[in-house]
Amino acid sequence: MELALNIVLLILVFALGVTIGSFLNVVIYRLPQKLNFVSGRSFCPHCNHQLSALDLVPVLSYLGLGRKCRYCKEPISPRYMVVEALTGVLALVSYLAFLPPVGFLLEGGLESLYTGTAVEVGLMAAWLPFALPAFSGAIIAAVMAFFVLCLLVVVTYIDADTMEIPNSLSLWLAALGLLSFAFGPTAALPWYDHLIGAVCVSVPMCILAFALVGSFGLGDVKLMAAAGLVLGWQLTLVATFIAVLVGGAWGIFLLATRRKGRKDHFAFGPALCAGIAASLFAGHPLITWYLGFF
Ligand SMILES: [Zn+2]
Repeated sequence: MELALNIVLLILVFALGVTIGSFLNVVIYRLPQKLNFVSGRSFCPHCNHQLSALDLVPVLSYLGLGRKCRYCKEPISPRYMVVEALTGVLALVSYLAFLPPVGFLLEGGLESLYTGTAVEVGLMAAWLPFALPAFSGAIIAAVMAFFVLCLLVVVTYIDADTMEIPNSLSLWLAALGLLSFAFGPTAALPWYDHLIGAVCVSVPMCILAFALVGSFGLGDVKLMAAAGLVLGWQLTLVATFIAVLVGGAWGIFLLATRRKGRKDHFAFGPALCAGIAASLFAGHPLITWYLGFF
């Protein structure tokens, strides 16, 4: 019973993530063009035909329609499905990282719903409102971590497309950073830790951006200031370290495969996002592991 419940819950979390991923696709497509992404019907980018609900079921529509637009038969970029599936996986990761498996969340309470007597079910129903606040911290942490990841997905794709990180996205991340003084995965850090995080990487990056023109964009600087506010200084350093490794490997790959020349720029935002995400979830184990060498 517990196992079945957990599987159902994991599927629900994944489905919720996929649905939010399909909204992220809209943001990634419309934000750089300054189109309204909150309202306005979705349309095919080739023929501008308005899409119906049937065309908009995440992942399934893409596969069901044979990867083509139903109206103009132009191929649909697999990216939409990749973003949806990725967001679904990230929802699962956030859920599993912060919340205990569910049966134990309710300590068998749910089971009594199916097997228990009316009295037991009544007791459980009465107990539930008292049990949930005990997990509210974990639920908020999971939701906040997931929101951070969603922003990072959008930044990654928009920066890769346009070589720019919209200020609004860094502002949203900074807002989550302010919230994280009191709530979420890094709420335990002292307040000054968040503040040092906001400057410890962004300020040196800003100096480099002006000293070595073309090294970083100011978009990268603002992203790291906002991320530092969320992460605190230790995890911000870890994030930067990972970003340099990922960015370096990506740069070498681009050069080796002759996709870019020596003098070309490539977007560093995706590497920063990868570093921030990895650090948020695995930063502390990584620090412990690294310090183990000394
Ligand atoms: Zn079309």
